[in-house]
Amino acid sequence: DEAALSVRALSVEFATREGPVRAVRDVALDVYAGRTLAILGESGSGKSVTALTIMGLLDSPPARVTSGSIMFEGADLVTATERTRMRVNGEGIAMVFQDALSALNPVYTVGNQISELLRVRRGLSRAAARAQAIELMERVRIPAAARRVDDYPHQFSGGMRQRIMIALAVALDPRVLIADEPTTALDVTVQAQIMELLTELRRENGMGLVLITHDLGVVAEVADDVTVMYSGRIVERGTVEELFQRPAHPYTRGLLRSMPRPDRQDDELWAIPGAPPSSLHAPGGCPFHPRCDAAVDRCRSDQPEFELIAAGRGSACHRSQEVFDGRA
Ligand code: SF4
Ligand code: MG
Repeated sequence: DEAALSVRALSVEFATREGPVRAVRDVALDVYAGRTLAILGESGSGKSVTALTIMGLLDSPPARVTSGSIMFEGADLVTATERTRMRVNGEGIAMVFQDALSALNPVYTVGNQISELLRVRRGLSRAAARAQAIELMERVRIPAAARRVDDYPHQFSGGMRQRIMIALAVALDPRVLIADEPTTALDVTVQAQIMELLTELRRENGMGLVLITHDLGVVAEVADDVTVMYSGRIVERGTVEELFQRPAHPYTRGLLRSMPRPDRQDDELWAIPGAPPSSLHAPGGCPFHPRCDAAVDRCRSDQPEFELIAAGRGSACHRSQEVFDGRA
């Protein structure tokens, strides 16, 4: 099947006082209709920068796309005209952010915010837009939507606000929905409900869903495909089953070991030592080497290339094959 969205060799740089920092290097992603791709990584790994670049939100200084393409419906969004970009955002690709309160306008009712989008982008009348806003609020399971359409963002709980953000994101029926840590600020029960809603909308609308997360538990629950990022690069890629059963990168393996599981005692819980590097001070060689339990001499000097190790599987590690085979 052809991907709905294809990113290739994407690199993004930020100008800083200490010189240019490469926040994302050589990233490649394929998003398929009806599937969920999780981008997994710690903070600072380049996941959000990748998403914001896909949305065209990092196309001016200090950010700069230094290479690569973002293909969507035959157009490369990196070089597309402003007009193409305006059409694609919302109708083609939409995004849900982590913090719904700051993404919603506090001085307008939620109904007004949804209606305004429909009036501007779809040319709906005031009455039709309001009716559709209520429908969208029902669709994302806001109780008593017909009454609550006239409430302001602060009158909703965090979980309900995130549902309103999702209603706004799917209002124009996008082919791809990107959700960046959409449940981080919410409690566990609400998190599960929001994930369920996103999965349901993905299925009903036949969207491709990109879920950005640091939470391996969430990945296990909802993802079909997984891309693992570390220090601005992709370090491993595969389906969720493949990755969980047989990781090919020591970082993925470490994440799996540190994941709480019902069949494991807390005192058996393991953590990857150290912290992820900042983009400014990424170590030479393999950026993971200071934390890697499989590191060898060449890891300190040579940057591993991303290579295929099996059909659909790839990893950026000098010892991929050995890790994959359980020999390292
Ligand atoms: Fe570890 Fe070396 Fe592989 Fe990097 S290249 S993940 S340091 S074994
Ligand atoms: Mg982020």
